[in-house]
Amino acid sequence: MMQTAKLYEGKAKILYPTKDPQILLTIYKDDATAFNAQKKGQITGKGAINCTIAAALFQYLEKAGIPTHYIDCPEVNQMRVKAVTIIPLEVVVRNIAAGSLCRQTGLPQGKVLPKPLLEYYLKDDALGDPLLTRDRLSLLNLASSEQLATIEEMTLKINQHLQDFFKLCNIILVDFKLEFGIDATNQIILADEISPDTCRLWDSRETDPQARIMDKDRFRQDLGQIESAYQTVQERVLSAINH
Ligand code: UDP
Repeated sequence: MMQTAKLYEGKAKILYPTKDPQILLTIYKDDATAFNAQKKGQITGKGAINCTIAAALFQYLEKAGIPTHYIDCPEVNQMRVKAVTIIPLEVVVRNIAAGSLCRQTGLPQGKVLPKPLLEYYLKDDALGDPLLTRDRLSLLNLASSEQLATIEEMTLKINQHLQDFFKLCNIILVDFKLEFGIDATNQIILADEISPDTCRLWDSRETDPQARIMDKDRFRQDLGQIESAYQTVQERVLSAINH
């Protein structure tokens, strides 16, 4: 399989074709990037951990009625997924103010938002993934208004399900990024990954603003103990999923 030519290599994953054109194989890498790939590094074991966490969360969401691209994991760092056409949007949901929301609006880090904030960013590294307005979104014609309504409804449901799930793990879901794809039957399904690389996760049993961080902010901010934080997220996710 590994001798097959890659279909695509991203910052954290490599996509390979399989014998079945409807199925792709994703290899999760240990490579870590931040700030639009200006900062690069490796997080030992991250590929396997993120793949395992994403697989557990995709299965949990499927059970809750959310269609996803997940099929199975032949190895701990490999996921077979349904082939989709990715909609080039990064759909971000925020429950608590952090990251770019604080930098761009002055809201204090950690402020609980009155309701989930849903934002669309253009998935385009060369342009620095800019935040889109509603009108820019419709101008770019990346999705129809019906498709956007579906994405919005699915995203808010996913947020509710993930918040409930992470609560069982004693983890606060601060914010996260989703990507959606269109499958062979023209259905919109959840794609890409959900992991500590794409979510902000705070340990609800820690109050210290640095000690509570269990996600890629540890890498972005050079906080150390990145591997062990990811490992702890995996342990808590697997133990909650098996209950
Ligand atoms: N995010 C992501 N990929 C991106 C940009 C953001 O997975 O290319 C996630 C990020 O991990 C966080 C959320 O989306 O959970 C919101 O990120 P934010 O806009 O605050 O950006 P940042 O502060 O990371 O620059």
